[in-house]
Amino acid sequence: MLLDNGRSDMLGSEFQDMLRCIRCGACMNHCPVYHAIGGHAYGWVYPGPMGSVLTPQFIGVEKGGQLPNASTFCGRCEEVCPMRIPLPKLMRHWREQEFSSHLTPPAQRRNLKAWAWLAKRPKLYHLAARLAARGLWVLGGSKRRTGFLPMAGAWTRHRDMPTPEGSTFLSQWGARKGRTGAGGTNS
Ligand code: SF4
Repeated sequence: MLLDNGRSDMLGSEFQDMLRCIRCGACMNHCPVYHAIGGHAYGWVYPGPMGSVLTPQFIGVEKGGQLPNASTFCGRCEEVCPMRIPLPKLMRHWREQEFSSHLTPPAQRRNLKAWAWLAKRPKLYHLAARLAARGLWVLGGSKRRTGFLPMAGAWTRHRDMPTPEGSTFLSQWGARKGRTGAGGTNS
């Protein structure tokens, strides 16, 4: 008897690359999220980045959609995968499916919409980023950590967040461009 376990459904789909997985575990061992939360947090047979792609396939994106969302998309998993499976791209496909099926919570959809609006207006975005960094710095006080994040309370429910130090990436990039005369459109 052959155990298919949903693999035939992957054939010809955007998840087909995942059929090359040999379960070596390299993606998992190099994943900063896996290192922080451990294997049991994934709640199914396969942990780590490979699990974040496989589990929604096996149990449905309605139940397993939180897994592809628990990724920073740092790309280390794809870099170390001996089968060159584009894991971040596959997780992104799950996020897209979740979003287009209206499974993401309304508040999250609203926030994403607001972020997209802001991101299309670079000057305003830079100003907002500077103000947010400054606000977090003030919130952190002398402890340089905050246990209160407006509109993101789930983040600080179980842990404090270190407050930003120094200037923003965009300010540093602007200063660097000024020094080297490098091209680019950021201001
Ligand atoms: S590194 Fe690649 S082949 Fe190895 S378990 Fe992860 S996805 Fe599968």
